[in-house]
Amino acid sequence: TANSVQFITKLTQKTKLAGARLADKHINLAVTGLSQSGKTAFITSLMNQLLEVNENAQLPFFSTHREARIIGVKRSAQMDVTTSRFAYEDAIEGLSKYPASWPQSTRGISQVRLLIRYKKKSGIGKWLSEDGCLTLDITDYPGEWLLDLPLLDMDFSTWCEHSAKEMRETKRLELSNQVRTQIDKLDLNGPSDESLLQKIAENYADYLKQCQLAGFQLLQPGRFLLPGELAGAPVLHFFPVSQSQLNMQNVDLNKLHKGSNIALLVERFEQYKQRVIQPFYQQHFKRFDRQIILVDCLGALNRGYHSYHDLQKALTWLMGSFAYGSSNILKRLFKPKIDKLIFAASKADHITPDQQSNLVKLLDSMLRDARKQLQFEGVVTESTLIAAIKASKHGRTKIDGEDIAVVQGVTADGQNLTLFPGEVPMQCPLPQFWDKQKFAFPQFAAPQLKAGDALPHIRMDQVIDFMLADKLQ
Ligand code: GDP
Repeated sequence: TANSVQFITKLTQKTKLAGARLADKHINLAVTGLSQSGKTAFITSLMNQLLEVNENAQLPFFSTHREARIIGVKRSAQMDVTTSRFAYEDAIEGLSKYPASWPQSTRGISQVRLLIRYKKKSGIGKWLSEDGCLTLDITDYPGEWLLDLPLLDMDFSTWCEHSAKEMRETKRLELSNQVRTQIDKLDLNGPSDESLLQKIAENYADYLKQCQLAGFQLLQPGRFLLPGELAGAPVLHFFPVSQSQLNMQNVDLNKLHKGSNIALLVERFEQYKQRVIQPFYQQHFKRFDRQIILVDCLGALNRGYHSYHDLQKALTWLMGSFAYGSSNILKRLFKPKIDKLIFAASKADHITPDQQSNLVKLLDSMLRDARKQLQFEGVVTESTLIAAIKASKHGRTKIDGEDIAVVQGVTADGQNLTLFPGEVPMQCPLPQFWDKQKFAFPQFAAPQLKAGDALPHIRMDQVIDFMLADKLQ
């Protein structure tokens, strides 16, 4: 009858709507890693692989693409208008010119949104919409900011003990010389002198940057290295004071004189925790549901044992932000959401293909302890390697009659280079190893991107598949 036809039509429309809503999926993907680990290169490549996806794309392990179900990908206005926009266009412009240049590295937080239209895997029924749309929000932020999480559970005195001791370690003694002298001269009980505290804090930040150049990776407070929008803000104007100085100047941290230098230092430290660290977790970190952490293992090997060791320590600290169950600090702040976590050793085009499995084993050995905690939390983790933007070619050559694998690329100063960059150890060598031998994995100039091509890469398709494919069914 006419009535039942109307009813069925209405039902069909309703089901169609429900189908369309069901098909609208969302992933909040965060990308992090310490400075120079390859975050910008990764996001540039990720966007490029997706935006340029077509039948010739080199993404054999991205199942949705392999099954020819991607209809189209486009950039859309990002969700949070107060966060910087990821500078994709600038990155592509730099890579397209001759000579090509690497994109500008991550300095703070930035975002981008992609809409991925796809054909659903199985025709669930002719009433349901056949196409789906996945909204992919990508956030880029410095891993250094995660190193600040443990500060939330420290008071000024504990933090000072830790940092002042570090400044006196053999390798850092000389780097910290100037700022230590300045701090030692400061009259802690004297009337607060904002401009003097600012000067010393800036020197403290310089000292941290010197440590970073010397290969250290576990450096705090994270915003002193990458202040983002806080550059110059008073909340960054504090520094640690040694216990001996506190004793010598008769300072009791429990009975501070209002208006003194030390009272202001303590206040700033507390404000840094409340106004900088906490809001990052509450406004941003809380939203992430998938996370990729990039690790430049090869760079750390190049810089020596202290750098490698410090990177391992930094990663363990950084992973504290993902081990919610055991972290009271995070539980106090919010409920966890991240369900997939991927660790990727970056810049894998610096080594020959036969060394790739060693690189993943090396990364795994670096993460072993911290990972046990994560498995307990029920987060799916994966470790792999990538070259987001492959800047070398792999080949073979004969040396003294022996056929060996080589890497060919162009150095930063434009010289062609063909070499066997060396073996990658499966785990961290003993410190003595570096006394006899050094690692020298090369650095390459950026490859030029030809119009219409996608960026050359290693294993970006596998990472994309792991991160997105389950939401593109
Ligand atoms: P960020 O600080 O984490 O944003 O690091 P970037 O993405 O800016 O990368 C830092 C530098 O590492 C770049 O300027 C490149 O020199 C190098 N790099 C990053 N990714 C790759 C890669 O996939 N291959 C090669 N050969 N070099 C890379």
